[in-house]
Amino acid sequence: MSTTKHKMSRRTRLRLFFEQQKVELVTVVVVVVYMFIIIIDIVVPDIAFDECDYQLRDTWGQVFWAIDMGFLVVFLIELALRTYAGGLEYLKDLYNLIDAIIILAAFSISLAVFDQTYTNSCDPNDPSCADDDDNNTQSLARLVRVVRIFRLITAVSKFQKTRKNTEVTRKKAKYKKTGSPIERVLDILLKLRRTPPFVDIAVDRENINFIMDVIISDSLYAVNLQGGSLSKDMAGFLSNTGVVSSGNDDSSGGKRRKSLTRGEISMAREDSEGASPKGKKSGRKTATKDNEAAAAPPPPPINPAARAHRRKSQFVANPAGGGPSLVWVDRLIEGDPVAKLLENAQKWDFDMFEFNKVTQGHPIVCMVLHQVKVNNLDDYLPINFANLTRYLLSLEDGYKDVPFHNKLHGADAAHGMTFFMMQPKVTAHLSKVDLYACILAAAMHDFEHPGVNNAFLVNSRHETALLYNDQSVLESFHVSRAWKLLLSAPNLDVFEGFTQDQYRDARATMIHTILGTDMKFHFDHLTKFKTRANANAFDEPEKKDVWLLLAMCLHAADVSNPAKPWNLSMQWTARVMEEFFQQGEQETEEGLTVSAFMDRATTNIAKCQVGFINFLIKPFFEEWTNFLGDECVKTLFSNVESNVAVWEKEGEEALGDKLAALKTIPAPKSPTGAPGAAPGAALGASPAPTAPTSST
Ligand SMILES: [Zn+2]
Repeated sequence: MSTTKHKMSRRTRLRLFFEQQKVELVTVVVVVVYMFIIIIDIVVPDIAFDECDYQLRDTWGQVFWAIDMGFLVVFLIELALRTYAGGLEYLKDLYNLIDAIIILAAFSISLAVFDQTYTNSCDPNDPSCADDDDNNTQSLARLVRVVRIFRLITAVSKFQKTRKNTEVTRKKAKYKKTGSPIERVLDILLKLRRTPPFVDIAVDRENINFIMDVIISDSLYAVNLQGGSLSKDMAGFLSNTGVVSSGNDDSSGGKRRKSLTRGEISMAREDSEGASPKGKKSGRKTATKDNEAAAAPPPPPINPAARAHRRKSQFVANPAGGGPSLVWVDRLIEGDPVAKLLENAQKWDFDMFEFNKVTQGHPIVCMVLHQVKVNNLDDYLPINFANLTRYLLSLEDGYKDVPFHNKLHGADAAHGMTFFMMQPKVTAHLSKVDLYACILAAAMHDFEHPGVNNAFLVNSRHETALLYNDQSVLESFHVSRAWKLLLSAPNLDVFEGFTQDQYRDARATMIHTILGTDMKFHFDHLTKFKTRANANAFDEPEKKDVWLLLAMCLHAADVSNPAKPWNLSMQWTARVMEEFFQQGEQETEEGLTVSAFMDRATTNIAKCQVGFINFLIKPFFEEWTNFLGDECVKTLFSNVESNVAVWEKEGEEALGDKLAALKTIPAPKSPTGAPGAAPGAALGASPAPTAPTSST
């Protein structure tokens, strides 16, 4: 590996050497001089020398042969080096190949003539040459003439080649075969760095070095928090949620640091588990009070047994169930309160809380069925509404009664996703399969969410984190579980009747968009989107661009709470903060240090929201709504700006009693807290439906 790498870099350096302007200039000068020498060699002896002056002709011939061989050796070395630098691709260029053949032929003939030039030179006055015959002389003269013509062709071709060399070598030899695009970028930058005026300007050189470092480090989308104006809590929160790399230790450290690194978890665990069972809480309190003492004890052994049962209970499977009829679903959707509310389903300020009430706790079922029907997807796709309804009922039932990541959020994401997909600049590029798949993807994107984040599952060494190797744990879990449900019974197959290609396409798109809801991809999405939008890639998007658009749609829908009108936004905020606090309480029980913004006693909700909106949401929605058009800027982005202003002005008071009302929602931590249990009053949800088995 290392040998190959070394070889590659040497070849690259050699290529760059030949591309330097100075080297090109020297090559041209050498070739021009060579051309003049050849012309002199051809012309002078015939004009200036007496035909019978063999002595002078031989001397002249020997001198010019030596000069000629010197040039040819130089050209041979150059040919070898260029072939080495450009690889065989260099010789695949017809121009280079002819040039190489001419140089080799000229060199070979000159070597052959060497024998004649030095051993057969003949003076007719010399008695030893008396037997020299005419045939020998004539054949020598013909050979020399051929060599001269070859040499002239060589010189002319080399002169032309050096002019085109940079272009030809770069385009055909250098990158086409061995170079990746990134290698080309690095080569260009390297060349730029060596080319005046950059070589004399320290700042430019510094910038180029920075660009090269970023590219080589493979962290194009990493966000640098150092030097920013973020609070330590905010930095800790971003690190904890994976938005920024946990490598930014400086930004999340300090007196009030709460986000956890693996070592800190171990510390906290030893604090709690090393003591008596009663010492759990006091251990955590000590850790919080002392703000993680500097001395780091060694990590404790993993002992998952104590909490294994409770952890597992958060992910109990939700069976498909059965029931007699689906007629009631149609009646519910077509009935007065729901149908009236659905008239506004295409609007951004759609009230999901009200919708949940009027649908009697079936917001996902009613929203998805409505969106599929109102967009006439069944005119283009073989949609089995009975299967779809059954699946949505089961899906809805699998959402847990946690404060935020419940079926309201699932339905809200389906609403937001459809809203974004219906924007002219997006919908123009979507197939009917894309539309259907992504409405479903939004509905299933937080299926069976346990109410704790990825960091908690990783830090607590949860079995699901082990299953997915700490990579997008919840997102992988949601897709996997929702898909298992879909395939668990034939009458839940929402793709029944789809072709194999349609099914494969839908599944790939859904997996891609749901995995894209992991917050750690926030800046990836944003930066890639900016880059592609600046390149006008969404005018005629490739498949990867359509996927990026869809990932943007679902991510935007997922984090759109601050872009909603205030009366909706603040309710979502209350829910997400309550879920944070309940996670904080679970962390306390687990003996872990409480994560940033998750300590009910110390967190300032308004500050948390201001930081979250200003750092993450505002830049994202600014870019996204600018792309979508003026209408979205006027509604969504204006909401973001006015909402953050309310938080800044009114502080926590802005929430009123919303948070207190949510405290009645139990965290899903009890071993008996199976899904489908009676939801909290504040959610306004009805008991889980009896999933029917027969169609309408
Ligand atoms: Zn979500």
